[in-house]
Amino acid sequence: MSSTVGSPNSKLSNSGHSNSGHFDFIVAGGGSAGCAVAAGLVKAGYKVALVEAGPDYGAFDSGQWPSDLVDARGLADSHDWNYKARQWVFQRARVMGGCSSHNGCIAAVGHRQDYDDWSLPGWTGNDVDPIFKRVTQTMRVRTYQSHEAGPFHARCLEAAESAGWRMASDLCDLDANDGFGLEAVNIVGTTRWNSAFAYIDPVRQSPELASRLTIFDRALIEKFEEHSEGVTLSMVRDDQTCTLTADQLVLSAGVYGTAEILQRSGIGDPELLQQLGIPVQVASVKTGMNLHDHPMVHADRRVGPQLQRWLDEAANSGFLPEEQTLGKAVSTQSDNGLFDLHLFPVCASTQTSRLHGQVNIEVACMTPKSRGSLKITSKDPRVLSAIDHNYLGDENGHDLAVLREGVALANELFNQTALGSLLGESLSDTSTDAGIRQYVEHYYHPVGTCAMGLKEDDVCTPAGRVRGLQRVTVADASLIPQVPRANTNLPSVMIGERIAELLVG
Ligand SMILES: Cc1cc2nc3c(=O)[nH]c(=O)nc-3n(C[C@H](O)[C@H](O)[C@H](O)COP(=O)(O)OP(=O)(O)OC[C@H]3O[C@@H](n4cnc5c(N)ncnc54)[C@H](O)[C@@H]3O)c2cc1C
Repeated sequence: MSSTVGSPNSKLSNSGHSNSGHFDFIVAGGGSAGCAVAAGLVKAGYKVALVEAGPDYGAFDSGQWPSDLVDARGLADSHDWNYKARQWVFQRARVMGGCSSHNGCIAAVGHRQDYDDWSLPGWTGNDVDPIFKRVTQTMRVRTYQSHEAGPFHARCLEAAESAGWRMASDLCDLDANDGFGLEAVNIVGTTRWNSAFAYIDPVRQSPELASRLTIFDRALIEKFEEHSEGVTLSMVRDDQTCTLTADQLVLSAGVYGTAEILQRSGIGDPELLQQLGIPVQVASVKTGMNLHDHPMVHADRRVGPQLQRWLDEAANSGFLPEEQTLGKAVSTQSDNGLFDLHLFPVCASTQTSRLHGQVNIEVACMTPKSRGSLKITSKDPRVLSAIDHNYLGDENGHDLAVLREGVALANELFNQTALGSLLGESLSDTSTDAGIRQYVEHYYHPVGTCAMGLKEDDVCTPAGRVRGLQRVTVADASLIPQVPRANTNLPSVMIGERIAELLVG
């Protein structure tokens, strides 16, 4: 049975002020970008419904957030959608703040050239630079200081210096190239500062702004329909199918969720839609295509007794994050002299961490050429999609060649005296192509399934508008045509801010 939701009924939902079922905007998905776009629209005076499949635990000050979601030492693994394919789990958070509520908090923006290379009006390096400056402030980004480096990361810095790396303090700078240094992070004290804290808390704290925002949490969006008066969204909440209406819809359900909602709503490859009995609204063969991520592989070593003592002492006596340092390197595959590798060392943050007893240097290819796809397998939003990232699938072997050089650089770091004297043997051999293929995984940065572009068959216009529709805009990582050389949280938030700006006009 279908009913119109008038007001949210979850006790944890902020709001309950806007009780009419019709809104100026529905923002579908309360993740990294969704929080930014919803806050931007509310501040501009619009009445907004923010619909999120996971729970909303309220403001940071409410103290309701589960500890793993706010503990910034390592990745959180609760609240996951459980997307899987072959040996991989493709982590995606199902909670307010989206993946910014369980991620590694590395704050990066990539290189100015990445955005120039998109060749899209409104998205050049010069266009996004001021937005990134705002985003880094709002997300409370800071760079670790040298006295904060844990025992392993302090040695990594020494090893990088002795291996001849440029020592960098500008890892979150659009104009910086290769270097090794302490990470920039969106961590406040020991708290993962997610985009809900950064963007929605100020709305919750202002009675005027809060009166314009209604959060529907634990609401699984099924599909939408566009008609002459607006957009109707169907969602499942408390086991009931409900509808919401608005003048406009912004899809911010992330790289998998946004493509899924579009396909379930009849915007996709006609062949796929017909197989599933979904009436075609817009024949859009690129919806769900162009899926890509930075492929990643690790070099590892067993921890020697001296380093283990230091790590255990540091874990017992304070805050020991898994990740604190990052290297950006240029491989011989780079066609413009810009870095195309990330190397980031990782250690266990507690004695019960999965990594206890070993350390890794994760190596990621930041300019991937391989492309995959996402296809829904059912009309039912509870059925997970078929995800094929096609890692290392590019025909010229570019991605594998970059990783090969990165693993060699990682092993060179491990072999410097500062580290080598404290480490034991390697646990998984990734020094061969076969080893890289065996251990390749993702860097948690999937993008591109609803990419914007100038061609008639690109899913979205450079304003994020879904081609073939009048009232639907995308604002999240799925819009990205080519992943920047960066971890993708700040770029996703930047997209949220930018699309809000464009919608407000
Ligand atoms: C484990 C992990 C570690 C990471 N580490 C880092 C890092 O250190 N630094 C960095 O920069 N990036 C990192 N990332 C990547 C970064 O967090 C993401 O790229 C970014 O959060 C994507 O933002 P988004 O807005 O596109 O999507 P999301 O943040 O995923 O938001 C999408 C939201 O939509 C909701 N949604 C989806 N489908 C539906 C539906 N049908 N109905 C209702 N709601 C729906 C989801 O629940 C989610 O809240 C990491 C990601 C992961 C998973």
